[in-house]
Amino acid sequence: MNTWLLAEDRFVPSLVPSRESIYTIGNGYLSTRGSFEEDLGGEIRASFINGLYVSPPGELPLLGAVPDWTGVSITIDGVLFSLDGKIGGYQRNLDMRSGILEREVLWRGAETGVVKIRFRRLVSMAERHLAALELTFLALTEDSDLRLETGINTSIPSPNVPAWNPLKWSSPARSRLRLVAESIDGDHRLSVDSAVYGPGHFELIGDHRHHRLASEVRLEVGRPVTFTKFAVYHVSRDPDPASPLPAPSTSFDEVAAASARAWAKRWRASNVEIDGDPASERGVRFAAFQVVAAAPPKDAGASIGGRMAAGFGYRHHVFWDTDVFIVPYLTVTHPDLARNHLAYRYRGLDGARRKAKKYGREGAFYAWESAGTGDEVTPEWSSPLFGPPSRIWTGEIEEHITSDVAYAADHYWRWTADDRFMLDEGVEIVVEGARYWASRLEVEKDGAHVRNVIGPDEYHTHVNDSYFTNLFAAWQLRRAASLVEWARKRSAAKTMALTARIGLEPADPGRWRQLANRIVLRRGADGVWEQHRGFFEAEPVNISSFSPRRMAMYDLLGEERAERSQVIKQPDVVMAMAMLPQAVGTEAVHRANWAYYFPRCDHGSSLSLAVHARVACDLGYTELAYELFLRAMAIDLENTMGNGQDGIHAATQGGVLQATLFGFGGLALQDGEPVTRPRLPDHWKELQFSFSHQGIRYERELRMGKRSGMATAIPRNRNRKKGDKE
Ligand code: BGC
Repeated sequence: MNTWLLAEDRFVPSLVPSRESIYTIGNGYLSTRGSFEEDLGGEIRASFINGLYVSPPGELPLLGAVPDWTGVSITIDGVLFSLDGKIGGYQRNLDMRSGILEREVLWRGAETGVVKIRFRRLVSMAERHLAALELTFLALTEDSDLRLETGINTSIPSPNVPAWNPLKWSSPARSRLRLVAESIDGDHRLSVDSAVYGPGHFELIGDHRHHRLASEVRLEVGRPVTFTKFAVYHVSRDPDPASPLPAPSTSFDEVAAASARAWAKRWRASNVEIDGDPASERGVRFAAFQVVAAAPPKDAGASIGGRMAAGFGYRHHVFWDTDVFIVPYLTVTHPDLARNHLAYRYRGLDGARRKAKKYGREGAFYAWESAGTGDEVTPEWSSPLFGPPSRIWTGEIEEHITSDVAYAADHYWRWTADDRFMLDEGVEIVVEGARYWASRLEVEKDGAHVRNVIGPDEYHTHVNDSYFTNLFAAWQLRRAASLVEWARKRSAAKTMALTARIGLEPADPGRWRQLANRIVLRRGADGVWEQHRGFFEAEPVNISSFSPRRMAMYDLLGEERAERSQVIKQPDVVMAMAMLPQAVGTEAVHRANWAYYFPRCDHGSSLSLAVHARVACDLGYTELAYELFLRAMAIDLENTMGNGQDGIHAATQGGVLQATLFGFGGLALQDGEPVTRPRLPDHWKELQFSFSHQGIRYERELRMGKRSGMATAIPRNRNRKKGDKE
């Protein structure tokens, strides 16, 4: 098995929409779903520019699918090529090493000869604005007439109506097209420059929404004919200028080689090798590929959405999924990409301040879902296909998001020692959240409470004293206090400026610590933390007695009963065990909490399985961890949640990567130094990965039997390892 390839050798119509998501290619700026070039019916054709949020009238913002560059209409001897025809062979590969998506089809239309068509496409990692497509035709049985049409299509739905209106079309040269378009909300301008190089005389078809270039050529048996198409996207808000279109002499291979070199740099930091388990090696590479492909470049003012830019799910809004599931992984592999997310969060502070103010509180209350600005964009109502809509409360009361953002900032800083970030942005993020908690807490005789919230387990809403929320509020208050003290020592001037800007009092750090000590965390005699007040008295439900099932427990029980029961959607106390293990308690406490909460978990969210896998590693339940890890990987690769058409689950992929490095690899910081502690499944002979700590890249080769070991530094110029071919 070539574990660099995501491959399929059969065309299965029912799998098309979900496969389009996992065959997405991206370079952080531009991403394109894996829809076929030719129309099929039922496909969700879309390319997105990260951070380019558009608000259709009366709707919340989403990344408006940009005018399409991939669509091609192919006619052979007057018969339109489509996969409904006779397919003699089909192979599609996403080469994750180079970022090239390739498909080869052997096709015969009604009364045509047999033609082999190869499609290759990429969005360049070297030249972020550039996309390239190559089509090669080979007549195998008889000479045929080929007609090809391809252009820029502004009529594709996004997902209901097109997001862009053409303002101006031009054709600056033979075989070139240029479009200037405006977003449906009038907020953005976009240009697409496109060229098609190949044989024949190109004719312009000036359809108002879809200008195309058409060429007709004779295919002679045994003589391949190749067309190459380039498209360059540029948006008014882009910090960098548009790159020019490649010259007619440029081949797809040249563009691909430059892009592959840029990918190779990324792969040096994110490659994982698992000797003894090729399927998992491929699954982990898929996760690393898609995370890097979705991570926006510097200054993009964007971050990674809950479904990445691989579908319309969650309207590309950014959740804690990025802070807690993706950023910890990026920090230890591509710290620059983690840093870009934190820049996005820093820019979002004003929106978070506005949200805090709206609720009459101080500091910053981050948006549960955010888009282009930091303002809250969570919908208030769900829009189910069937049945009445239900109220969504997360945008108002899922408050742990504020600490999740602070956690990401702190995690990044601890691994990178990027003091400049901490001084310039991080302290402010953590402190503004602490000020929020200080104004949010209800201090009473028996302690400080946070009432009426939603914790990570969203099956229970309007709860009091959520363990996770309270634990993190306390953590953030203490962390803010020590960071202010650290910042004062590090740069008195910057700290004074910050103090003046946000109105900090000298007594604040002391006050925060006192408050933190008063926050209520409740636990039973057996050491089990109560997920929220009243949870221990809620109705116990034996989840396993509902097996086998296809529906989430929430849907089976109904909203009301789910709220009253002990069934939880996803890790909550267990989530705290993954993030702040020491604060939760000793190993015995961890075991007791796992034993209590694991059987009560529905895994009703895509975040759940991978986190459990990681925590199971910490507890030494390695084979169970492996089973959960496989199920986590299957969420996107096998579409086991059934919603794959909406995009790739960002948190699942981040979680799979964390389960690999932090779980099976046991990568952690101990007294500020990185250590690894292998807990490999029995059949893994070896696990290799690299990570970076404070600017130095390390490589680890872990084997079973080697229970612990301090990581050793490897000088940068000796980073190359055996099997590293590039
Ligand atoms: C989960 C949240 C998550 C969101 C986006 C929800 O189903 O419960 O924790 O942030 O999906 O992935």
